[in-house]
Amino acid sequence: MTRVFDQHLHSWNSFDCKTPPVENVEQAIAVGLAGLTFTEHFDTHPSEWESCVYDDLKIERELSEVREQFGDRMFIGKGIEVCYQPERLDFVLEMLTAHSFDVVLLSVHWASGRAVHLQDLFKGMSCDEYLRFYLESVRECTANLVQMKRDGHQPFQILGHLDYAKRSAYRFFGFDGQLNEPELIDEILRNCLTADIIPEINTSTLRQGLSTSMPGMEIVQRYADLGGTMMSFGSDAHRAEDIGAGSDHALDLMRKAGLTHLACFEGGKLCATAL
Ligand SMILES: [Zn+2]
Ligand SMILES: [Zn+2]
Repeated sequence: MTRVFDQHLHSWNSFDCKTPPVENVEQAIAVGLAGLTFTEHFDTHPSEWESCVYDDLKIERELSEVREQFGDRMFIGKGIEVCYQPERLDFVLEMLTAHSFDVVLLSVHWASGRAVHLQDLFKGMSCDEYLRFYLESVRECTANLVQMKRDGHQPFQILGHLDYAKRSAYRFFGFDGQLNEPELIDEILRNCLTADIIPEINTSTLRQGLSTSMPGMEIVQRYADLGGTMMSFGSDAHRAEDIGAGSDHALDLMRKAGLTHLACFEGGKLCATAL
């Protein structure tokens, strides 16, 4: 049986979540996960920074408490979800160097200075234009990661929900189809492979009415066709009951696409588990 790690989830140490960490851990044990890694929001855009509430000391303290209680039953990791803000990259890198993480997740929540979840900022765009606008930012982000890798830096291990705009496109436009941007997607996936960053399968959309995870089957298949061998799984749970949710679905997509491993991280090091 595959040892499943949920490597994308939040607790009350994220501004948009009220769940005590211990409840997340109890649920992870109840659903049989081998590991869970907390990935609290680190949002550095000037308009979000004040409400971001990231408190590394408090997180360390609370995680050592739950590890003391449950650490013999499962791996309990400390990660972080960094919101990609090219202008704030130096600040982010400094912060990452000053603290330790089992995994650093990079997520594109903004596209060219616009928060993707705010509909007003995309007035006049069609659904296709909106999705393309977002994916262009993910391409730019991943191209930047390729350059960083060439310069000897690899601060991020997982790329979160690479087609994240799908979630808002469902709300804005009722979109629940396939992304029509094969060339852009290929570039993003190739960049991931070159930069050595693992894309995740994020299952939060399955709880929000969409019929596919982020990304869905075509992109997972394309990733495998381009030479990818493993992806990571994240529920993106903000409530304890959602911990591990959709893991069967995500693992199924990986297997069907021909991926061989689930990517898990401990102490920043990849420990791949056979699917
Ligand atoms: Zn996110
Ligand atoms: Zn998240």
